Amino acid sequence: MVFRLLPGTGLVLPGSAGVLRFGMSERAAQWAASTLADIRVGGWMCGVCWTFFFVHRDVMVTAYACAACDGQDLGHLVVERTERVPEQAAAVPVAFGDLDLFGYPVHELAEVLEPADRELLLAAGTNPRSTHYVPGVRLDACEGERR
Ligand SMILES: [Zn+2]
Repeated sequence: MVFRLLPGTGLVLPGSAGVLRFGMSERAAQWAASTLADIRVGGWMCGVCWTFFFVHRDVMVTAYACAACDGQDLGHLVVERTERVPEQAAAVPVAFGDLDLFGYPVHELAEVLEPADRELLLAAGTNPRSTHYVPGVRLDACEGERR
C-alpha cells in the first residue's frame, strides 16, 4: 500500500483506488479518491476553481484546479504529512521511483536525489542537512496559480 508520485502524470493511490491523473475532471478525481478515503470538498483557496482533500493514515492529499488549468481539470496535487514537522517516516510510503520520499530524513534524501529531482521534490528553502522528514511535496501540471 503506497502512494506513487508520477511527475507530469499524477499520483497513484494505494491499493486498487486508481490514479489521480492530471487532466481528469473534478468528478472523476473525486470518484477515484473516494474509494480510498472520505473526501472533503471545498475550503477556501485563492484563485482555485475547485479543490478537495482527503487523509489516508498520516498523509493528506489535496487536489485542485486553478483558473489557468487546462479545461479546469485536475492540474495540481499536494501530498503532505499531517504533522507539520515530521520526525519519523510516514505510516504509508510515498514512492518516487524506488525511493520512499516520506521515509527518510531530508539530509539522506538530499544525498541520493539527482539535482533536478531535488528541485522538483524538496521545497525551495529546504535545508539539505535537516534531520526532519519531508513535510510535503507538490506536483503541478500547469504553470498557473500555486498555493
Ligand atoms: Zn493550474
